[in-house]
Amino acid sequence: MSQIDPSAVPPPARATAAPLAAALLGRCPACGRGKLFRGYLALEPRCEVCGLDTGFADSGDGPAVFVILIVGFLVVAAVLFVEVRWSPPYWVHGVIWLPTILILTLAALRIAKAAMIGLQYRHDAREGRIAGPRDPRP
Ligand SMILES: [Zn+2]
Repeated sequence: MSQIDPSAVPPPARATAAPLAAALLGRCPACGRGKLFRGYLALEPRCEVCGLDTGFADSGDGPAVFVILIVGFLVVAAVLFVEVRWSPPYWVHGVIWLPTILILTLAALRIAKAAMIGLQYRHDAREGRIAGPRDPRP
């Protein structure tokens, strides 16, 4: 006979806006309509539509790490393909790939930050802490 430990069942995810669409458009993770960003990567302190306080959001270095790994993989694969196929002079690589890296990185960084904040909001993720005897949260 098996018993289910209720504390082992994760809490349900919050109802949120469509995560991918909200991340791509830089919208609020709760309502999907308000702006998430004030500038390029600076956050609005509060959603203008639903009033969500973005003080919880702390994506840290996560977006940069994902962007470095994904864009780096794509660009290195493209560089190797071009080098093996056409073997252009090195200055051609510089002219092609330096702007490509810059554009892809700047475009992907904002989307990655919005996606990580959306996931943080959806799953109520927060910094780890030690639960005390009177603290019911794990
Ligand atoms: Zn909102």
